Amino acid sequence: MSRIAYVNGRYQDMRDASVNIEDRGYQFADGIYEVCEVRGGKLVDMPRHLARLQRSLGELRIAEPMPLSALSVVMHEVVRRNRVQFGIVYLQISRGVARRDHGFPAGSVKPSVVVTARTINPAKGAENAARGIKVITVPENRWPRVDIKSTALLPNVLAKQAAREAGAYEAWYVDSDGFVTEGSSSNAWIVTKEGRVVTRPDKSGILSGITRSVLKDALEALQIRFEERAFTPEEAAGAAEAFVTAASMIVMPVVAIDGHTIGSGKPGPVALRLREQFHRFAAFS
Ligand code: PMP
Repeated sequence: MSRIAYVNGRYQDMRDASVNIEDRGYQFADGIYEVCEVRGGKLVDMPRHLARLQRSLGELRIAEPMPLSALSVVMHEVVRRNRVQFGIVYLQISRGVARRDHGFPAGSVKPSVVVTARTINPAKGAENAARGIKVITVPENRWPRVDIKSTALLPNVLAKQAAREAGAYEAWYVDSDGFVTEGSSSNAWIVTKEGRVVTRPDKSGILSGITRSVLKDALEALQIRFEERAFTPEEAAGAAEAFVTAASMIVMPVVAIDGHTIGSGKPGPVALRLREQFHRFAAFS
């Protein structure tokens, strides 16, 4: 079955879908994106994803190409047309097409909208979660506005590649004060030996993950002790457990950091429980 993409008002076969070579998304990474989990054919936590999308657009002064409710309809339709039951839906909005010039285009350029969806075999995630993933650390080298979900991801691309080449699954950035900020495509967490779940506050250095925010609700409801503070790679190496969160990974246990085994070297009970319980606290639409 061929895959279908939504591109600027049309549902097209992916093989024919294209954007203009003077799209500012292509030339300047002048755009934003969202990734939502698809589970049982439903979209997970759409209201929070749409709220973050709106915030990212606002921060970059990119106009909303259509009402958020219409964007939601398009995303559902792309999922439906691609018959995705388990996977992800990707939405990208760029500032639009204009003659190449760094400053914003004069006049009213229409933002470009692209939506794709793809199936991810849930067994693959389950397999990774049963084994646990390894992370490496890399120096933080991104701009300070990582709170904006921008398509400018070159440092993240290089960090993920460094992880792969080191036989790891994810790279955690470490800031100039020696604290972990987040992963190249996920938020970073540890569980202390006292059983406290710890993650960095979202006021600086991280993208405010939707999975992170839903998990905070879950921790409260499950009465699991939680601390929002920064931690170092050394603390992570000595922690009982570690894990990462992202819409595409939910809760993924981490069993090693820079070659140091974390806890027992197996996925920890807290991470596995949170992974198992997560969708009780998620919103489906
Ligand atoms: N940080 C970064 C840098 C990311 O790319 C992602 C995934 N998009 C996350 C955190 C996790 O965010 P979410 O839970 O919304 O997927």
